[in-house]
Amino acid sequence: MKDCLFCKIAAGEMETDFVYQDEKVVAFKDLNPQAPVHLLIVPKKHISDLNNLKSEDSELVGHIYQVAKKMAAKFEIADSGYRLVSNCGDDGGQTVYHIHFHLLGGRKLQWPPG
Ligand code: 5GP
Ligand code: ZN
Repeated sequence: MKDCLFCKIAAGEMETDFVYQDEKVVAFKDLNPQAPVHLLIVPKKHISDLNNLKSEDSELVGHIYQVAKKMAAKFEIADSGYRLVSNCGDDGGQTVYHIHFHLLGGRKLQWPPG
């Protein structure tokens, strides 16, 4: 989608260092990390937010969870623990309206989040 930051990043138009990529998703480090490990896992397909996820996207979301598991192992937080989170809408703290999943770890995370 034109003028979508994560579409541009996923298309390789922003000189991003991908820590993972395949035909469906990319993963890269968050610009403003909130934990020692803070990755964003982003589908190449433009879906603005969770409200706009279709049933046909279920396989894609399952794939994202598999990629998250792989990245947790790669960044050595699989054993200590981590969080996979997708913010939706204003109250959820979403700022980029292209669905994405934060993988956070490397420190003790608070629950519930603020
Ligand atoms: P949200 O607030 O929508 O859940 O998450 C958006 C995330 O994208 C934020 O954590 C923010 O730091 C990150 N972000 C925004 N712009 C960029 C960028 O250009 N590059 C990278 N790597 N991360 C970005
Ligand atoms: Zn997009």
